[in-house]
Amino acid sequence: MPTVFLKTYGCQMNERDSEQVAQMFVERGFTIAAQPDDADVVLMNTCSVRDQAEQKAIGSMGHMAKYRRNKPNLVYGFLGCMAQSRGAELVEKMPHVDLVAGTQKYHKVVDHVVDLMAQKEEARMDSLVNPIVDIDLEEDSQNTIRDHIDKDYPVSEFVSIMQGCNMKCSFCIVPYTRGPERGRPISEIVDECKRLADKGVREVTLLGQIVNLYGRHEFPKVDGKSPFVQLLEAVHEIEDIKRIRFTSPHPIGYKEDVIEAFTYLPKLVDHVHFPMQSGSDRILKKMRRPYKAERFIEICDKMKEARPGIAISTDVIVGFPGETEEDYLETKKAVEHVQFDQAFVFRYSPRKDTPAAEMEEQLPERVKEERNQDLLKLVNSIVIRKNEAMVGTTQEVLCEGPSRYNEERLSGRTRTNRIVIFDGDAQRMAGELFDVKINETTGHTLYGDAVLS
Ligand code: SF4
Repeated sequence: MPTVFLKTYGCQMNERDSEQVAQMFVERGFTIAAQPDDADVVLMNTCSVRDQAEQKAIGSMGHMAKYRRNKPNLVYGFLGCMAQSRGAELVEKMPHVDLVAGTQKYHKVVDHVVDLMAQKEEARMDSLVNPIVDIDLEEDSQNTIRDHIDKDYPVSEFVSIMQGCNMKCSFCIVPYTRGPERGRPISEIVDECKRLADKGVREVTLLGQIVNLYGRHEFPKVDGKSPFVQLLEAVHEIEDIKRIRFTSPHPIGYKEDVIEAFTYLPKLVDHVHFPMQSGSDRILKKMRRPYKAERFIEICDKMKEARPGIAISTDVIVGFPGETEEDYLETKKAVEHVQFDQAFVFRYSPRKDTPAAEMEEQLPERVKEERNQDLLKLVNSIVIRKNEAMVGTTQEVLCEGPSRYNEERLSGRTRTNRIVIFDGDAQRMAGELFDVKINETTGHTLYGDAVLS
């Protein structure tokens, strides 16, 4: 039985896609290898948001080229954001790489690998095999994977404000791969935002693993305000920046000053992505997430008070080691209370070198999948009901340019981070803020008519 080693860089979404790919391999008769040196296939799911993440992935793939000496038919491949953005350049740069599959090709990865293995078997001379570079866009792939696309209209951009994470969530690999928290000086971040604004960017997303704890070790509080709130206020001063988003905050960083910022910084959008992970205090403790479910819910309630109509999205892990049915129902209860506008639900999957992977009471895949489907059903029912309630309303939208799924139409997002599709001229409207009258929804996407003066 062939073995596959799958290493993931980057955010929760990457984790999710990796889990899917791993499962697809298992369903095709592969086993997941714990070590790259005894695998038949070595894959990396990469992150392109920060160059450092890319350099880490490229450096590591270079290091592993030596394994082919013992396994001439070994297949190497890049998946995810960097594969999508660099494409064929990666195989030119690294001739031992056989596969570059973009963010819309997760569901094609196994096919490509099987194809390459057959080619190698037939060829018996590994150098003759043609590498596969599959980064084309594919209709409907959005239902199985999550993608990142380079934009012709750089209206909204990520700005990395910190690296690393000092938290020690028992399931997470980030602290080990990205090291301790290190914040960039506020002035550098503001300069970067100004440069982006000069290039036509109207929205920035401040990016960090635990973004609202930014600078807690490096920069002093000023007038009782944390470095993160000082940064929000400084970016807010940039005239051409119209919207500010941030991701991902941590509950212990949600102090009063951050909540209050939503009462006097109008450019802060009406949306936060706020990972809960579990609604059970017993499981939060096992996850080493130092807060109680009650406190998480209290913060959500306070955010709704500070900014009425705010949308809250989250991440939830189901099937964590030792999770009982009662624990799972606590999570479900929390989802019902907060009524998340979106939730990314993950089946727990052991990450090598994380404490949770060594824990007893690992749950069977069947139980994880049952809870995953059950919670997704609840989440989707809330999402669809809230989007249907948007029909007939008028929403302020930032136009991001042609819609990814229909170049004839334009797309943008509401302040609550909902995607809206409408007609218009991309050259004239990209980067502009205007109202859209919502007249339809598919349950996950809104459709409407731009109200132009
Ligand atoms: S807060 Fe926890 S889950 Fe998030 S990056 Fe840090 S260790 Fe990982």
